[in-house]
Amino acid sequence: MRQFLANRNIRLTRSLGQNFLHDGNQLHRIVAAAGLSREDNVLEIGPGLGPLTERLLAEAGHVLAIEKDARLETWLAERFRNEPRLELRHADALDALRAQPRDWSSWTVVSNLPYCVASALITEFALATAPPKRLVVTLQLEVARRLAAKPHAGDYGVLTLLVRQRYQLGPWFRIPATCFFPQPDVDSACVRLDRRPDSEQLPDATTRQAFVHVVKRGFSERRKRLFKLLRRDWDEPALEAAFLALGLDADCRAEQLDLHQFQALARRLLTPRSAGAPALPPTP
Ligand code: SAM
Repeated sequence: MRQFLANRNIRLTRSLGQNFLHDGNQLHRIVAAAGLSREDNVLEIGPGLGPLTERLLAEAGHVLAIEKDARLETWLAERFRNEPRLELRHADALDALRAQPRDWSSWTVVSNLPYCVASALITEFALATAPPKRLVVTLQLEVARRLAAKPHAGDYGVLTLLVRQRYQLGPWFRIPATCFFPQPDVDSACVRLDRRPDSEQLPDATTRQAFVHVVKRGFSERRKRLFKLLRRDWDEPALEAAFLALGLDADCRAEQLDLHQFQALARRLLTPRSAGAPALPPTP
């Protein structure tokens, strides 16, 4: 791979998370985790040099691959020039997803995500109006741990809840840093996220917005009492009634509540006094 890049005069860009997966066994495990068939449409974000793309094309019916680096996109267009089932796009995937919301509900996302935007991308899917049915994504091990975290744990928080309200976490596996070129500082993990059945999801956009607001506010100052934090956005009598109905202790902190308790709180509180939810804490 080193030689290949040198021959094409391609210097890798760290800020684009260009750590390429060269381990065939891990590539095989990722594609197997997606459980694809010829009926499937797959979105791949950051195809890089195309090792995963090639395997996805062998299993799925159609692959849409979005690559931000024009040099790599040019190489991919050349490599897959005889492959009509590949739709290649040169774009920033996060910008493209935000600019053109579409119905992804029949799509599967399979990607070795660039570290810098991995959390933002999966959150974007989890909050979309019509999110993909399955995400099989490789990201930092630390992010996988946050997705799997349980209440009371230090890595349980905004990312856990925003993603898990939409997706069930399936089996996941660790991918050692040695499987990538250049070798990153940290290990990775491939996680499978399956969209929850409608009956387990929040019923509409208003309730989802309330959920996001409650979660972000609740974790904006982890050590503070949830009730006190939510008073910034909701009137005290409404909060008292909601806490009482749900049997929540007025002294509890956000990290003590599980997903169902946050969902129930959002359903009861709905529209906050102030429209804007606090910003997401910066992703690592
Ligand atoms: N799929 C390849 C593999 O497994 O070897 C490459 C994965 S590499 C971790 C991440 C890829 O995402 C790089 O090719 C990088 O140029 C691309 N990338 C980085 N930021 C991006 C963005 N915002 N939108 C689309 N592609 C991006």
